[in-house]
Amino acid sequence: MVFRNIIYLYPLKNTAVKVIDLSKYTKELSKLFSSSENILLISHINPDGDAIGSQLALYHYLRSKGKNVSLMTPNHLQDFLKWMDGAEQINIFIKDRKECRKLIGEADLIVMLDFNQSNRLGEAEHLVKKSRARKIIIDHYLDPGDFADLIISIPSKCSTSELVHDLICDMNEVQFINRPYAEALYVGIITDTGNFEHGSYSSQTFRIVADLLDSGVEKENILNKIYNNFSSDRIRLQGYALNKRMIVLPEFKTAYIFLTKNDLKEYNYVKGDTEGFVNMPLSIKGIHFSALFIEKDNFIKLSFRSKGDFPSNEFAAQYFSGGGHMNASGGEYTDTLDKTIDYFLKVLKENVWRFEEKM
Ligand code: 5GP
Ligand code: MN
Repeated sequence: MVFRNIIYLYPLKNTAVKVIDLSKYTKELSKLFSSSENILLISHINPDGDAIGSQLALYHYLRSKGKNVSLMTPNHLQDFLKWMDGAEQINIFIKDRKECRKLIGEADLIVMLDFNQSNRLGEAEHLVKKSRARKIIIDHYLDPGDFADLIISIPSKCSTSELVHDLICDMNEVQFINRPYAEALYVGIITDTGNFEHGSYSSQTFRIVADLLDSGVEKENILNKIYNNFSSDRIRLQGYALNKRMIVLPEFKTAYIFLTKNDLKEYNYVKGDTEGFVNMPLSIKGIHFSALFIEKDNFIKLSFRSKGDFPSNEFAAQYFSGGGHMNASGGEYTDTLDKTIDYFLKVLKENVWRFEEKM
């Protein structure tokens, strides 16, 4: 490791964080960028809008500085992100292993975006960890793991995209902006805030978005590409999930949705179709905790969402080998769907004090 430097600020939920002095860290960043020949940007497995948004924003910035930059993700992008400028340049590890191996081997600087645990590198984890490149993490999650030389992890940021923009602003006297960059940031910010629905954004987020809109970002066009892009099967699956597969437990201020393999087959499920389902029960009055159970081949995948101070990530970590943010987390359980739900109900009961105290 060349040096080790962590900015790890404001672990509590974002309220009005006024000014964060990034200058010490942007100096290190600038040095690392200018002293590197081959820069590889990596986002996390099952990349979401913020992973790809922050990755592409940094890509467009570094390219404008004449840098040799490559892009990689551990696995495939979902269709709703493929239109983004630069997305076609992203190498998919599980598809292009040879090329990705070469990129990892040749890189003298690796920047990892929107994750801070090395297992989110998927099958590329071992190669990236043993690479001799200098490594940077840029992220907005709690509790970063120890696998980089510079870790910039600021949980008060609504998205990694917002953080990337703040860092780039701090590195430049004149604000950098061009169309693909602005679009990438906009995608990252809207997807990680649920189009400004979750409480994670700040007044600073809106200042950035104002600049993006002033630069000509076509917001309706992007919103349509991101949100109004579902198949009819996906919408029908949502209706089915809410109508037939949602259980409301008012005594625990909790609701959950479960979907069997068969349900998914019935509605011609493709990856990403259940995204957002777990948020829906939180729209029910009095519901503060929501869970989604998806039956996979050998285990059950769980997603959790909560409102307020209920630490869904602690719940996920304690009972479902998972983690994440306070209000958005996930985990898994290796048993049948029925037994997993039984177990969930049992541990909910053990946690009933949380619902009384915290809500
Ligand atoms: P989602 O429900 O959208 O899949 O995930 C929400 C958040 O929970 C993600 O940002 C991710 O950080 C976290 N998460 C989801 N599944 C897991 C898991 O199995 N393990 C851990 N550590 N975090 C997870
Ligand atoms: Mn993010």
